[in-house]
Amino acid sequence: MVGIMPIRQLPDTMINQIAAGEVVERPASVVKELVENALDAGASRIEIATAGGGLGLIRVIDDGAGIAPEELPLAVGRHCTSKLGGDIHDIRTLGFRGEALPSIGSVARLTIRSRTADADNGAEISVEGGVTSTVRPAAANRGTTVEVRDLFFATPARLKFMKGPRAEAAAIADVVKRIAMAFPQVRFTLSGSDRSTLELPPAGDQNDRPARIAQILGSEFGENSLAVDAEREGVRLTGHISIPSWSRATAQQQYAFVNGRPVRDKLIAGAIRGAFADVLPRDRHAVTTLFLWLDPADVDVNVHPAKADVRFRDAGLVRGLIVGAIRQTLAGAGIRASTSASASMLEAFRGERAPAPVTPHDFHRPLGSGFAEQEQALFDAGPTVSARQAEGDSGDTVSADAPLGAARAQIHENYIVAQTADSLVIVDQHAAHERLVYEALKRGLDERPVASQMLLLPEVIDLPEEDADRLAAQAPLLARLGLGLERFGPSAVAVRETPAMLGETDIHGLVRDLADELAENDTADTLRARLNKVAATMACHGSVRSGRRLRPDEMNALLREMEATPGSGTCNHGRPTYIELKLTDIERLFGRR
Ligand code: ADP
Ligand code: MG
Repeated sequence: MVGIMPIRQLPDTMINQIAAGEVVERPASVVKELVENALDAGASRIEIATAGGGLGLIRVIDDGAGIAPEELPLAVGRHCTSKLGGDIHDIRTLGFRGEALPSIGSVARLTIRSRTADADNGAEISVEGGVTSTVRPAAANRGTTVEVRDLFFATPARLKFMKGPRAEAAAIADVVKRIAMAFPQVRFTLSGSDRSTLELPPAGDQNDRPARIAQILGSEFGENSLAVDAEREGVRLTGHISIPSWSRATAQQQYAFVNGRPVRDKLIAGAIRGAFADVLPRDRHAVTTLFLWLDPADVDVNVHPAKADVRFRDAGLVRGLIVGAIRQTLAGAGIRASTSASASMLEAFRGERAPAPVTPHDFHRPLGSGFAEQEQALFDAGPTVSARQAEGDSGDTVSADAPLGAARAQIHENYIVAQTADSLVIVDQHAAHERLVYEALKRGLDERPVASQMLLLPEVIDLPEEDADRLAAQAPLLARLGLGLERFGPSAVAVRETPAMLGETDIHGLVRDLADELAENDTADTLRARLNKVAATMACHGSVRSGRRLRPDEMNALLREMEATPGSGTCNHGRPTYIELKLTDIERLFGRR
């Protein structure tokens, strides 16, 4: 068939729909483009409202410069922009391609109403599925109102890729937060039937961002983060990174900006991962707000129509700057990061409760540099002398025929040494317990609910609104897993019960991680996979019980439980939960064979 049709110019609507395929991936992309236009127009307040996950309605109202009536047809025309001054290598506005409005107009019903400061009257234009109306007079305040209805009605195939209103609404909130962090002096309001209102009053300016960051990430971030400020060969990096103990289950809370433009960049994400590699396990992620400032000529933002990817002229320089600056910041704060971790470890070994901001992950996280000698000494004097016999008779009454044998001792407060008929077994109590909790939670999903333990006082946890939404929506599921929580005001949940088998656990960390998991897997995964992930996240928190001295009967009970639990040979991270040394191997080691 190819070659039969003559070559011809595509009609404009089709060209715009092709462009829309890249610029307007989902409702959040429309919000991003419209909010960027408002910012380029110098707006100081931007009101965004959405319904139906943005597929039904997106409305963005700004108090910016406005568009003159005679320019309205140009604004919705292809490749029409007021921004590019003639040098594609010197881009200082968020928009520059002149593509967003015509693209949106080709796939949705778009209306723009606007009035400039010096005009007495406003005007309005609309584009529906690529068909542009005439310009009509309209009453309007100074500024611009853009309304987008029935997104993708003209390209129904695209609709099939949408994840459902909740996920799309969450993606919209994420986009707004990313942009809002870059423009602290601007007031943002996100409302509509998709959510209860997110209100971000002006907070600071380009040189004073912490208040805006706190509005978005919560005030806890301030207390658990370190300031980064470094420069290398004309490239400046500023921002904040969380201390390792305040890590998250996903990289969702990593915010990056290049010359004030929010970006999702692989190079930056990779540099962050690399910088934290020594202090965070692979499955944990730092919370970061990083701002890169460099000569606009040294970075290309015209890599993709959505303008979220960037290309640096000197990628190695940027990567080196980020990795170096983060590592240096962490090292400089070594005392703080490592003392809280080691202190909590000591406490855990003594069977006390870990302080709130430290997650149980500290127990299996390799400590970074700066583990002060003094503390090391204290640590050594404490638990390491405790290798002790599993005294009494319980050890002997357990049959050594059992696959994991009879417990003989617990060493270093975490390793159970057991004896079978022909081998020596060493169990990593932490890893094993985590696995058992995970399996029990999964059973809890299928069979009977997991036992919970009532808190004396409900624990109120402040969270971003979307997170509180998601948790509240999943409350029945979480209840089956033994976690009883309910909505507490617009941006908090109250936890009343925790799974009994988790023991004393860091509830704040657990709930934050669950919110991350739910955000990441809102609709993409199957229900089953999602439940399993939630269970895994909870199990991870249950492992706080490692480092606890166990009585001989407790050790044996753990061994028997492991034998009875399928899949207990590896922990949730795929590491073994026990190792077995055959007697013959031991004899070989001693040269007896
Ligand atoms: P770009 O932002 O790349 O220039 P758009 O299609 O997004 O392309 O917008 C086209 C033009 O319409 C802009 O260059 C600007 O002049 C005008 N415009 C769009 N939105 C607004 C707004 N909210 N306020 C003022 N002018 C706007
Ligand atoms: Mg634009």
